[in-house]
Amino acid sequence: MTELEKFCSQCLARKPLSEFHSYFDKKRKKTRQRAACRACMNQRSAIWRARNPSYHAEYNARRLTENVSTSGIVPACPQSID
Ligand SMILES: [Zn+2]
Repeated sequence: MTELEKFCSQCLARKPLSEFHSYFDKKRKKTRQRAACRACMNQRSAIWRARNPSYHAEYNARRLTENVSTSGIVPACPQSID
């Protein structure tokens, strides 16, 4: 397994790093990849959203009002940054 590939913890397939969501690890000060590949993450969040249909709407509405009142900047949805 090269450094450019990684096993997905969900589907156990070996995939290139580009198939994994990356995020910045503040403790280690470097970019890392999620344990599950994009396809699995999408599947998981889709299932989760289906089970919690109102969560995102409420969460985004709350974030929007909180952030607009303090900074005036409308934040991007954390799901899309990921
Ligand atoms: Zn996977």
